[in-house]
Amino acid sequence: MGYFTALKGELVTYMDDQQIERTYQAYVFARNAHRGQKRLTGEAYITHPVAAARILAEIHMDVDSIMATLLHDVLEDTRATKSELASHFGENVANLVDGVSKLKKIKFDSHAEEQAENFRKMVLAMVRDIRVVIVKLADRLHNMRTLSVMRPDKQRRIALETMEIYAPIAHRLGMHDFYRELEDLGLKARYPMRYRVLSDSIKRVHGNRKRMLREIENNICEALSRNGLSQGQVLGRRKNLCSIYKKMRFKKISFNDVMDVFGFRVVVQDVDACYRVLGIVHSLYKPVPERFKDYIAMPKANSYQSLHTTLFGPYGIPIEIQIRTDDMDKIAENGVAAHWRYKAGSDHAKDAQLKAVKWVQGLLEMQHNTASSLEFIESVKSDLFPDEVYVFTPKGDILKLPGGATPVDFAYAVHSEVGNSCVAVKINKKLSPLSTPLINGQQVDVVTSDQATPNPAWLNFVVTSKARSNIRYYLKCQQNTESIALGSRLLTLALQKFSKNFADIPKEAMQSLLKVLGYKNREELLEAIGLGHQTASLIAQRLLYGLQIEYTEDNTIPALYIKGTEGMVVRFAECCRPLPGDSIIGQSNPGQGILVHMAQCSKVSSLTYDAKKIIYIRWEDEVAGDFKADLVIEVANQRRVLALLAGIIADEDSNIDNILVDPKDGQHNKVSLTITVNHRRHLAKIIRQIRRLEPVVKVIRTKG
Ligand code: MN
Repeated sequence: MGYFTALKGELVTYMDDQQIERTYQAYVFARNAHRGQKRLTGEAYITHPVAAARILAEIHMDVDSIMATLLHDVLEDTRATKSELASHFGENVANLVDGVSKLKKIKFDSHAEEQAENFRKMVLAMVRDIRVVIVKLADRLHNMRTLSVMRPDKQRRIALETMEIYAPIAHRLGMHDFYRELEDLGLKARYPMRYRVLSDSIKRVHGNRKRMLREIENNICEALSRNGLSQGQVLGRRKNLCSIYKKMRFKKISFNDVMDVFGFRVVVQDVDACYRVLGIVHSLYKPVPERFKDYIAMPKANSYQSLHTTLFGPYGIPIEIQIRTDDMDKIAENGVAAHWRYKAGSDHAKDAQLKAVKWVQGLLEMQHNTASSLEFIESVKSDLFPDEVYVFTPKGDILKLPGGATPVDFAYAVHSEVGNSCVAVKINKKLSPLSTPLINGQQVDVVTSDQATPNPAWLNFVVTSKARSNIRYYLKCQQNTESIALGSRLLTLALQKFSKNFADIPKEAMQSLLKVLGYKNREELLEAIGLGHQTASLIAQRLLYGLQIEYTEDNTIPALYIKGTEGMVVRFAECCRPLPGDSIIGQSNPGQGILVHMAQCSKVSSLTYDAKKIIYIRWEDEVAGDFKADLVIEVANQRRVLALLAGIIADEDSNIDNILVDPKDGQHNKVSLTITVNHRRHLAKIIRQIRRLEPVVKVIRTKG
């Protein structure tokens, strides 16, 4: 029996004697075929297929898969032939072994091409029988476990392939135990130092927390048995090392923050019990709002089912709890491989199987659509990482971005200067909005301009931290300069009220006021005025205190003239959308500068008596920029009326920002438009043109 004994120990737990005998025959065949061969570890070669078969026996894979795993290297490394295998062990086993065997007789130009061609062959075999990939994963897992005897360069190559292809495939197939171990071993082989440091830190943390973990575990167990659920299992969950590493690295979360969560899994008999457990833990510890997820009612794409909730544990420590049935747990851990365990029964397992088959069929389709096997393996890789998109620069370089990334993220990924000066983008040569989420394979060409600056609205759609931090930083600097400039103008106006100017302020008065108010220098004070934290007229009075001051006749501060280029510290209210030419009034908002309303806006009237908040403003003669205006147009329900409206607006050099059509009754439509104009006169001209249209009944500009 020899090496077979340990494997048999697993098989007897779920196979009948006849199946075990067939497995034994496969073992004997493989042992004889590999006779004389040794692994790099110095052991007999047969130990490898036996160990791989044992990995699958532990998750109760069927007899064909176990036999195929025992035989998986005989076609590649010995003289045995496929027809020999078929006659001894049947077509299924022979096909499985053939599916995982590499192409032998072809000479490849490069290692990458060879890898790609072999991968393509495996995918084609998977389409016929998905077990091919399960056998392959067991083979790979055992090779990864014994990787350290290989040459360092080979170790790195195999580890990379594992992390790029096999670990994500295991993940896709829901085989999470495999996935986690493959990833951890891959990380260990590629970055041994990082692995060691992280693994030591994790051990230390777990040592420190043992007592608390046990306390929580006991509390949950007791609560379950008080409620008659004593068969339920409560298990402390550990994050795998690689997932901790990835969180720290890609989400920029510190080790302590990643580790600062305690995870538990509660496994019970049936679905009903799952929801009861949920109620029990929620009454034991307070749940964190909006962290509850019901993947039992709504399973994930890979058929994963579970209830997830997060609780405020003792000392405020967050506890993540997964609650599921035994079946769900097996599928959660073994995914598609659980199918063979529950051949007759479980619908969930069947579902996982169907989804896996669908995915493989998708791969087949991809295979047909790609010109070469290299291209194919690249598309499989990007398909396996749905969280990443690969796009091209105009020069053909590939850039990897997180899912949902936009052209602005792309621009910042190229260079922060490109990001700061981007104005438009061509995606596959077509001009597109900067907020368009990018898709795999697109060519992205950013258009930049020297005058361009980052737009605060970008913060609403960028996803990379690089873009976000660059935009924030720029805006912060920009806002400083703009608010200092505005503060200086406001203070100048306030001083004018007393017929004074900056030069009249006594040095000591400035110094002592800065000290009293806690500002380092004059710029800080001006910035505070610009941002609305300080009121210009009060500051002026305090600065001039003790001087001979005269009041001007009307006793009000002269108006501030604005020209539309003040930037972020002067903004225009959305409620009334004032236009150049309208009479306007400013509202000072601490921290945000001035918000400009129309003088008759209903939101302003309540403020009019709060002198500190009101700033009198006027338009300069020449105002720059585009302003938004809202129109409501009542039109007869005729064809082409919208096209006529759009035509007029375009002819007048205006843009439609938003359009909403509300059918009032059968005869009339109410069209609400937001358009851009540069002046009240501009809008008036457009309204006149619209009124002339025959189907138009009424046009009004709405103001809040
Ligand atoms: Mn092997």
